[in-house]
Amino acid sequence: MYWQDSWSRSAICGFWPLALWFEPGAKHRSNNCRLCHGPHAGYRSSPLPDRQVHIGQNNGIIIVGGGLVGFSIAYGLVRLGLDCTLLDSSDTDFIAARGNFGLVWVQGKGAGFSTYADWTMRSSELWPTLCDELQDTTGHDLGLEQEGGIHICLSQEEYDDRKQKLDLLRSHQNGRFIYEMMDRQTLLELQPNLGPDVVGGSWCPSDGHVNPLFLLKSLHDAFLRHGGQVYSDAKVDDISHAKGVFTLTSRQGLFRAPRVVLSAGLGNRQLAPLVGLRQPLRPQKGQILVTQKTDRLIRHPMTLMRQTAEGSIMIGDSKEEVGFDISSTTDVMAQIASRAERTIPALKHQQIIRSWGALRVMSPDGYPVYDQSTTHPGAYAVTCHSGVTLAAAHAIDLAGDIAAGKLAHNLHEFTERRFDVSPD
Ligand SMILES: Cc1cc2nc3c(=O)[nH]c(=O)nc-3n(C[C@H](O)[C@H](O)[C@H](O)COP(=O)(O)OP(=O)(O)OC[C@H]3O[C@@H](n4cnc5c(N)ncnc54)[C@H](O)[C@@H]3O)c2cc1C
Repeated sequence: MYWQDSWSRSAICGFWPLALWFEPGAKHRSNNCRLCHGPHAGYRSSPLPDRQVHIGQNNGIIIVGGGLVGFSIAYGLVRLGLDCTLLDSSDTDFIAARGNFGLVWVQGKGAGFSTYADWTMRSSELWPTLCDELQDTTGHDLGLEQEGGIHICLSQEEYDDRKQKLDLLRSHQNGRFIYEMMDRQTLLELQPNLGPDVVGGSWCPSDGHVNPLFLLKSLHDAFLRHGGQVYSDAKVDDISHAKGVFTLTSRQGLFRAPRVVLSAGLGNRQLAPLVGLRQPLRPQKGQILVTQKTDRLIRHPMTLMRQTAEGSIMIGDSKEEVGFDISSTTDVMAQIASRAERTIPALKHQQIIRSWGALRVMSPDGYPVYDQSTTHPGAYAVTCHSGVTLAAAHAIDLAGDIAAGKLAHNLHEFTERRFDVSPD
């Protein structure tokens, strides 16, 4: 793999999803959509600090944060007829929803936490419903494919570890999780052109991938079409609660509603304590490389790489504990590229045309955190690090629970209270 000749490496290291939607150097445009700059109904962005908005009478809900988690829940709520307003901060925030890999992934998720494995599988099963709904409502093709995915092993040790992990996952899933460990020869029937270092891998028929940017745009557009209101450049700085009503202070003014959902990614760390909750989150950097468009080289998505419907190959992603740093670094990019070339040697002829780093929203154990406040009834806080995979469960099941005013029993295991350390 090599970098496009005419550009220096540093020049191409950028957060390309932003470039896709925003002209370089463009300033935020008042009253226009943050995603496409169009003048949608239901979209507000010019700062009016004196503005006071009361959402709904008894059933209004404010969603804080316009990433994949916020828009999935927001769409799910308006789909049920609730009166919803979403407050989002600015484009300069760390926004995982615009820098991710796009896998709708089941294999390996929740090996040590069966409820999470169930929840992930449930979301994968709901994905076709969400996709059809969004495509019918917005006309956007999300490029969803759920025809199975591969995890590649480059040594016998990796193969044995993988088998042990997936056996554990299968043991608590009562036959629901299906996978197959494949030796090199069997894997070659699924994915030709594997390199000589590939000893085998795991195959799961539930895995898939989607265009994550079209997903975000579709959720956003569908939310507006169902009557939702979006305020951008509306960072929430304070939340108070009196007589059953939340008042949120933002750059766009004061917003009031009887219910509030905090889904601000890493921003939830500061917001959750304002409603009596905790979200002890940390950033974890992932770097991704993208090749030029090419003929079909990759038949099924893999944990390390996938070929998009348009023909580019996305390769990644690293897991780096480096704080709030989204820079692309040559050493990590070289490691990613090396593993990709060992997997599919034909990739060495592909040009890398883009790269970026983005921050995952990680809890201490890596699993989602869902909570309903007992001190501030009507407040919820939601975060996870697999917001693409879980988008369907968030839009359909979790939004349904929030609409009904009570998280389902199975979601109680995702409470932040699991991080409490016993005095013994
Ligand atoms: C490199 C990488 C690869 C990934 N790959 C996958 C994958 O293949 N599959 C998968 O399922 N998941 C993947 N993910 C994870 C997925 O992208 C995230 O789970 C998801 O995007 C999280 O969305 P979010 O809405 O919680 O956070 P974000 O996308 O970060 O959005 C948070 C939003 O809240 C806003 N905000 C913050 N503070 C405030 C405030 N005070 N007031 C108002 N608004 C605020 C921000 O401006 C932002 O718009 C990946 C993530 C990364 C980084």
